[in-house]
Amino acid sequence: VVEIGTPDRSIVTTCAYCGVGCAFRAEMRGEQLVRMVPWKDGKANRGHSCVKGRFAWGYANHAERILSPMIRETIDQPWREVTWNEAFTHAAAEIARIQEKYGRHAVGGITSSRCTNEETFLVQKLVRAGFGNNNVDTCARVCHSPTGYGLKTTFGTSAGTQDFDSVMASDVVLIIGANPTDGHPVFASRLKRRLRQGARLIVIDPRRTDIVRSPHVEADFHLPLRPGTNVAVLTAMAHVIVTEGLADEAFVRARCDWEEYRHWADFVALPCNSPEALAPVTGVTPVTLRAAARLFATGGNGSIYYGLGVTEHSQGSSTVMAIANLAMATGNIGRPGVGVNPLRGQNNVQGACDMGSFPHELSGYRHISDAAARNMFEAEWGVSIDPEPGLRIPNMLDAACDGTFKALYIQGEDILQSDPNTKHVAAGLAAMECVIVHDLFLNETANYAHIFLPGSTFLEKNGTFTNAERRIQPVRKVMTPLSGLEDWEVTQGLANAMGLGWSYGHPAEIMEEIARLTPTFANVSFARLDVLGSMQWPATAAAPDGTPVMHVDSFVRGKGKFVVTDYIPTDEKTGPRYPLLLTTGRILSQYNVGAQTRRTANVIWHEEDRLEIHPADAEDRGLKEGDWARLASRSGETTLRVMVTDRVAPGVVYTTFHHPATQANVVTSEYSDWATNCPEYKVTAVQVSPSNGP
Ligand code: SF4
Repeated sequence: VVEIGTPDRSIVTTCAYCGVGCAFRAEMRGEQLVRMVPWKDGKANRGHSCVKGRFAWGYANHAERILSPMIRETIDQPWREVTWNEAFTHAAAEIARIQEKYGRHAVGGITSSRCTNEETFLVQKLVRAGFGNNNVDTCARVCHSPTGYGLKTTFGTSAGTQDFDSVMASDVVLIIGANPTDGHPVFASRLKRRLRQGARLIVIDPRRTDIVRSPHVEADFHLPLRPGTNVAVLTAMAHVIVTEGLADEAFVRARCDWEEYRHWADFVALPCNSPEALAPVTGVTPVTLRAAARLFATGGNGSIYYGLGVTEHSQGSSTVMAIANLAMATGNIGRPGVGVNPLRGQNNVQGACDMGSFPHELSGYRHISDAAARNMFEAEWGVSIDPEPGLRIPNMLDAACDGTFKALYIQGEDILQSDPNTKHVAAGLAAMECVIVHDLFLNETANYAHIFLPGSTFLEKNGTFTNAERRIQPVRKVMTPLSGLEDWEVTQGLANAMGLGWSYGHPAEIMEEIARLTPTFANVSFARLDVLGSMQWPATAAAPDGTPVMHVDSFVRGKGKFVVTDYIPTDEKTGPRYPLLLTTGRILSQYNVGAQTRRTANVIWHEEDRLEIHPADAEDRGLKEGDWARLASRSGETTLRVMVTDRVAPGVVYTTFHHPATQANVVTSEYSDWATNCPEYKVTAVQVSPSNGP
């Protein structure tokens, strides 16, 4: 722990790591952060925190921070430091040149779930009002875009239905594809408290995560399904509930479209959807599955929490809808203790999606083809907006490889490390004439950049993050930006070099614009956030301080919609050459590709990624604990040290992806969610063999 001197002031702000959104007092001495103290009045964390938020802020002053804008003509030249004005002018000239030569659709922007709502809002505004197209996307593309599709289709909006406190009223908690102990530790603490009080627990996960069995907590049922079969397991659970008469038909008749329910119920009741029929696919024992389904339907208030083990599949959107079907069929929507709750990975996944940083949606989840919504923005911005959706990240890269997409502004995302099919990402970036990277460090993507714009950490800026429970919380500047500009000022500088004439003086003014244009944010302002501490959207005239539980009397879309979700096996198949299935996840002390957590003074963060393998599979391959193994797929290969464990079932291997040397995304497959293109990170057919090391 690095603590320097005695603090002389403290400022309340919000953690910039995961979607729990813990509030902290940043205790300062002059311009030096002394320590982060969990804030007892923070509604998301109530004085708790995990090691990342508490201690992993050393990256803010790391020597590898880039503090000056830089440009270069070609990517094999050295960088040249320039002034901000020179960088903005050069970037604007390059975008103009490329649009003149290749057309206005040849450029686009990517924003990040790491950034504030205000920053994200400005990037999509820059693309729509400045670039003149809808080629804007966010890194939520590769994590929770299926949540956007699935929950909007079934409930009418893309958001978790509950606040975190709601779990304290749950009688049965179903966790699918999430590892809250490592990924969302402060929420996991609250969940475990409820479990110790007697709530029942069902975990659906290929791996025996800590929540399945930890001190004082043991799941009633763990369904260790074969990776890629979420939809089959949920369908089999629905089969039991419908055929045994356990559905809450009174709720369905009152709140949902009855005809669609009947259609869905007839489908799940088919004999081919029974636990017995699907067991060879799922690998889950029918007796266990039947018992788990009965518990969920009859055990009282049932809540569902899920993570990337649901979304990062070729059937990610179908799985989200299957979860929504299950919640509606059992009447578990619209009151404390129930609901469907995506556990968002990054601090502002919810906000990035809310702010309209998707190619098909304006802020507040209004489709770009909605003329009334578009007109609001056109009147405010004084431009006309394309009614057609723009390109998603993978489409931008495909178009770059095809020679039709030539320039990209990337704010706060290292797409070369975090997106699938690394070789294809590199080829796309290499084919562009102008790549603008706006980040804290010279990341892997910056190897392909022509312009580098230094970013600011969460300690150096004002704004808001929205956590996994739709809670909008202030991010407050505690130190002067080391590069001289906050991130929103960088985007504004670029916009003004393009002649857009923006004049925001503070992010509070950006939030005023967001509130004017986004009905669910109508009552949100920095002034109200200062008074209330946080607000959960929708915050409207009807709910001026926000809404802890959604869909209480009716769904946002009116009647809840049941969608038949047929199980369709992924195209990623095992076979003699690639007989094992790889799935991936995180550990508590590290964060994604580790850009921040690896740059702290505390050596605890520097654990290596390991390959978990079942003892039988290890023995078959002559591998022992600590050996090096070669992990190869149809996409590529890497080398990892082995951890022999029965946490994973025979036939399944698992790794984390925090260290660049691991290169997990060299191995992951090319497949993605049918509706949203979210990559199928969680299922890759692989072979594992002994290796002498990297
Ligand atoms: Fe930060 Fe998440 Fe840890 Fe809270 S639980 S301190 S938000 S990383």
